[in-house]
Amino acid sequence: HLEERVPANEIPELNRLAESFNHMAKELEGVEQRRRDLVSDLSHELRTPLTVVEGYLEGLADGTIEASSDIYQRLARETTRLRRLVNDLQELSQAEAGYLPINAKPLNICPLLASLVQRFSDQLLEGTTILSLECPADLPPAIADPERVEQILVNLIGNALRYTPQGSVTLQAWQETGQMWIAVKDTGQGISSDDLPHVFERFWRSDRSRDRHSGGTGIGLAISRRLVELQKGVILAESELGKGSVFRFSLPIAQRFTTL
Ligand code: ADP
Repeated sequence: HLEERVPANEIPELNRLAESFNHMAKELEGVEQRRRDLVSDLSHELRTPLTVVEGYLEGLADGTIEASSDIYQRLARETTRLRRLVNDLQELSQAEAGYLPINAKPLNICPLLASLVQRFSDQLLEGTTILSLECPADLPPAIADPERVEQILVNLIGNALRYTPQGSVTLQAWQETGQMWIAVKDTGQGISSDDLPHVFERFWRSDRSRDRHSGGTGIGLAISRRLVELQKGVILAESELGKGSVFRFSLPIAQRFTTL
C-alpha cells in the first residue's frame, strides 16, 4: 500500500546519499569551471603575442611598416614569448598531472647555487644588479632532483633579477629543523600584500608587470610550486612593496644527516 510508505526525504540513508551526490556535483562543477578558466586564460595569453606578430607582418607586407632591425627584434621577441609560453604550458600540465619524473638523489646545494650565480652574473650588465651567494660549507646534501632544483632556481633568480632593475639579489641556503632551505632575496619592486597570495597561481601577473611588458608568462611560479611539492618541500613568498621580495623553498635532507 502506497500510503504506508515512508516519504523518501525521511529516510536517513537516502538523505545522506542525496547530500553526497550534491557534494560531488558541486566538485565537478568546480573542476569544469577551472578548465574553462584555463582555456580562456590560455587563449588570451596566446592571442596577445600573435596579434603583435600579425600586425607587424601585415604592415611589412603592405609596405606601411618599413623593415628594420628593430622590427625584426620585436618579431623575434614575440616569437620567443610564444615558444616560452608553449614550453611552460607543457611543463605545467605535466607537473599538475604528476607526470614529471623526479629523480631524487643526494644533492650538494652550494656548488649548484655557485654555478647559477656564475651563469646569471655573466649575463648581467655591469653596474646594475649584484648577485651574491651565502652558503655554509658544512651544509649536508639535500635529497632532490638536481635538474628540477635548477629549474626552480632559474625561475626564482630570473624573476628576482627581472623585478630588481637595480639593487641586489642574494641566494642563501641553510639547514633548519631537519630541512634544507634555499632562499632568493631581492631588493626590487616588491609585491603588494593584496597581490602576494596570488603569485603562485598560474597565469597570475601583477598589473605592474603586465604593464611593463616584462616578458613573463605568469606560469613560472605555478610550475616551481608544483616541482617543490613533488620533492616533498614547501615554497613561500614574503614581500614588501618597494622594498623587495624573498622566495624560499624547503627540501628534505638525507636521513643519516638529520639524525646527527
Ligand atoms: P612571470 O613569468 O610573469 O614572471 P611567474 O609565475 O614567475 O610569472 O610570476 C608571477 C608574477 O609574480 C610576476 O608576473 C610578477 O608580477 C610577480 N613576481 C614574481 N617574482 C617576483 C619578484 N621577485 N619581485 C616582484 N614581483 C614578482
